[in-house]
Amino acid sequence: MRRRSFLIQSALSAGWVALPTLFEFGCKEKRMDKEFKFKGHVNIVGAGMAGLYAAKLLTQHKISHTVFEASAQVGGRIKSLNGFETYPIELGAEEIHGENSIWFDSLFQLGAKLINPDQQDYLSINGELVPEYLWDQDSRIKPGIEVLNELETGSILSDNSLSDWWQGRLPQDQRLSQTLVYARSCNDFGTSADRISVKAINYENREWRSGDNNLILSSGSFTDYLEKLFPEIIPKVKVVTPITRINYGSEYTEVIDAKGVVYPAEKTIVTVPLSILKQGIIQFDPPLPTEKINQFNSFGMDTGIKMFLRFSKTWWPEDMGSIILEDSLPEIWATSQGKEAVLNRTLTVFVMGAGAEILSQLEPQAAVNRVLGRLEYYLGVGLAQDLQKWHIQDWSKEPWIQGAYSYAKAGAQANRKILRQPVNQQIYFAGEAMNDVHYATVQGAMESAQRAVWEIGTS
Ligand SMILES: Cc1cc2nc3c(=O)[nH]c(=O)nc-3n(C[C@H](O)[C@H](O)[C@H](O)COP(=O)(O)OP(=O)(O)OC[C@H]3O[C@@H](n4cnc5c(N)ncnc54)[C@H](O)[C@@H]3O)c2cc1C
Repeated sequence: MRRRSFLIQSALSAGWVALPTLFEFGCKEKRMDKEFKFKGHVNIVGAGMAGLYAAKLLTQHKISHTVFEASAQVGGRIKSLNGFETYPIELGAEEIHGENSIWFDSLFQLGAKLINPDQQDYLSINGELVPEYLWDQDSRIKPGIEVLNELETGSILSDNSLSDWWQGRLPQDQRLSQTLVYARSCNDFGTSADRISVKAINYENREWRSGDNNLILSSGSFTDYLEKLFPEIIPKVKVVTPITRINYGSEYTEVIDAKGVVYPAEKTIVTVPLSILKQGIIQFDPPLPTEKINQFNSFGMDTGIKMFLRFSKTWWPEDMGSIILEDSLPEIWATSQGKEAVLNRTLTVFVMGAGAEILSQLEPQAAVNRVLGRLEYYLGVGLAQDLQKWHIQDWSKEPWIQGAYSYAKAGAQANRKILRQPVNQQIYFAGEAMNDVHYATVQGAMESAQRAVWEIGTS
């Protein structure tokens, strides 16, 4: 997920964000109660942020545990690409959403330098790039800004889809406003406007507690910081160990891998992506309660793609954050994001839901050609000759992830509290999807692990 606050930078506020800010806030110690009653062994399934953080907390409480990871590497949806650019590129999570979170605190404690990129977003209108500070003066865009503000600060009780809800507010001829709302809401939430519940978007906006700044690392990658945060955990993770079955209901839970090896434990924390749970890739015996399985189906986890295009020259404005396009490619941003002393020559195409599904079905080169074609069409410039190289990260094609991140489906009465409820005081659920408010974020995964460990410790 890219952006936390929809609020548009208006002409009045344009000067407000000055130079990239180096964040040096004091960090808050978030400690769990010392009274841990639980004695026994815990199995943790999945070694993304939730699984690794759960293991770290259990270590702190001297509770023995084993972490199982299906793929050959830890990190899950934190994954970095070295060598494509002169700086590491984030294939999954990239921004630190807010300075009031465990993730921010962890990075701060590790000495990470974070910057708040001071860049301007542009909306492409008939080949012209219109900067964000002018949007609220343009009658074609203003209705979209009002809709975004309502999504952020209103109180929306309808479980309709975003597109059904905006019907009355943004009539057909308001294409530009629809484009803006699409890019700044549902695409960030991992899907398309006709799939996501508008109530869920509004709830997340109102309840969000992490702060509104979107920060990035000034150097290094999220993967580097995972290694620094979990030096004692990562070497012990059982990688290439997909779990296919979890038994519970008797004295022990049993986690069983694809080779049939059985690992008993008193408790199990399941942190695999929701898509893996929805598809029944892990069989539970006895089956999980129907209410929980129904909730799995109330959420989606759609295709999500980041495509990186490196050009021989910068043809976009130097101060550009994102370009928002009137297209199924809603948002494209400068990959360097204002990092100092790096070349600004690569763009990230960020597309979720239906638009991503179209690209995902194409051969990689055809997908790149399609994106270039759309860009050339909208911006009226020839680009193909300047493209040096490209890379595509399609999260739906990662066998143990199978999608970008969770979102509440329209009309499905999605309820994350039911989704994450422990079963039989033996099976606990963590991972981004299990966080009521900070889902689809790194801190959301960490908080969900904190909660699961707390539930075990006090059970
Ligand atoms: C394109 C994209 C952009 C994002 N941008 C941001 C951002 O800017 N900021 C932000 O805060 N967040 C962002 N996120 C979200 C963030 O990456 C996730 O919320 C977070 O990393 C999820 O952590 P997790 O532990 O819940 O799940 P995961 O990281 O998915 O970890 C789950 C692990 O379980 C493993 N697994 C699956 N099945 C099995 C099995 N059967 N047995 C054993 N192991 C299994 C998987 O291999 C994986 O390693 C982004 C995500 C994507 C995809």
